[in-house]
Amino acid sequence: MAHVSVPMYWRTIPQRYRLVGHKCKKCGKVNFPPKGVCKYCNASSDFEEIQLSGRGKVHTFTLIGAGGAPPEFAEQEKAGGSYPVAIVELEKGPKVIGQMADVNGKDVKIDMPVRAELRRIYREEGVIRYGFKFVPDTEGA
Ligand code: ZN
Repeated sequence: MAHVSVPMYWRTIPQRYRLVGHKCKKCGKVNFPPKGVCKYCNASSDFEEIQLSGRGKVHTFTLIGAGGAPPEFAEQEKAGGSYPVAIVELEKGPKVIGQMADVNGKDVKIDMPVRAELRRIYREEGVIRYGFKFVPDTEGA
């Protein structure tokens, strides 16, 4: 995730909070986050909004250790240790990257079921920013 300014951040809140994807009317694939032009067929900007469930499974993951973390993760980094960041394949197909919560890095497994939860991501200039983190989805296991 790239650094975003505060106004840019607020503009993107509906997508961040509601997990709304754009289903391409031409090829049927789901773009998330929504794009101006479908990233799959690269030919259509005709979309239907769909609500994503936030459920998915871990496609791949990595542990981010001390040093080299992007600014939005600096707070956790200072809090100590490494933490898992996963690419999650959501139910309708789109893959999203997100930090994992409520799980130890050593317990994260490929294909483990997860769901998105709204969590505090980090604080900057007095503004607490929220976004999705992925937590183990025990019901779906
Ligand atoms: Zn398309």
